[in-house]
Amino acid sequence: METTTSLLGVDLGGSKIEAAIMDAAGVVTHRARCPTPKNSYEDTLAAIRELCEQLESETGLPDRRPLGICTPGSPSPETGLMRNCNSTALNGQRLLADLEDCCARPVRIANDADCLALSEASDGSGAEADSVFGVIVGTGVGGGIVIRGSLLQGPNAISGEWGHNPMPLDRLATLPPALSPSRLCYCGRQNCIETWLSGPGLALSHEQLHGDGISVGELSLEHPDDAHRASLSLYADMLATALGGVVNLLDPELIVMGGGLSNIPSLYREVPALLARKLFSDVCRTKIYPAQHGDSSGVRGAAWLWRDTVSASS
Ligand SMILES: [Zn+2]
Repeated sequence: METTTSLLGVDLGGSKIEAAIMDAAGVVTHRARCPTPKNSYEDTLAAIRELCEQLESETGLPDRRPLGICTPGSPSPETGLMRNCNSTALNGQRLLADLEDCCARPVRIANDADCLALSEASDGSGAEADSVFGVIVGTGVGGGIVIRGSLLQGPNAISGEWGHNPMPLDRLATLPPALSPSRLCYCGRQNCIETWLSGPGLALSHEQLHGDGISVGELSLEHPDDAHRASLSLYADMLATALGGVVNLLDPELIVMGGGLSNIPSLYREVPALLARKLFSDVCRTKIYPAQHGDSSGVRGAAWLWRDTVSASS
């Protein structure tokens, strides 16, 4: 395979598209972005191509370099059609093949949680860890798994999708009476972890418990309002319960968290202590850290999808 000294990544989000050139040490040297075109798949493809060509023109790098792209969902390994995209109109589109045609270059694709896990395992919070479970807790809940530097990709292309496992029944059985344990998920199942641990899930819990709204920025265990603290404590316990299932199965060295709710500092004190009680183990050595690269995880992880092409001398 041809080697390179820099990598090209694109993060395709619901409101904006960001492209970046990253060097072999993980330093983003150039960025470009534009709003995500509304209601036009063809315009979205064209916008991605233009961003790539703009960066190649600005940097003087050889054009038609391989592209890594971060998306909200993933292509079905059976049909190649996008699925599980909860925030864009990509579902049902043959995105990977269409991008390769439109941009005239090879393309690799991964969802946002996989890109977070790969970015952090490559040169972020998990750079020293052998096994990393990357978690996104934001508008949705997703996960990705990196083992010894490689993204785990199984036959169904759903590795790490813990957000659509059900919240354990024993946890639902001990909810406060005001919370109904029957939340319908957009995927068609009931009580998916996402329905409880996403931002909208937390807001719904707080509203049902206390009758008013809540914003993530306000959440803190030091908050003077008892209701805020109670909602956050419940959230931390449910998060620990859900992560307990992951640790029993995967036993990762590190859990790294991204997404809006990962910015709540007290989670990193509360959840590890709670997690230790949820495991089939007498110890819990798994660490939980926030993502080091924050909002850049998508575009960086997308670029790292071509890590095997970086030349050793670079
Ligand atoms: Zn679901």
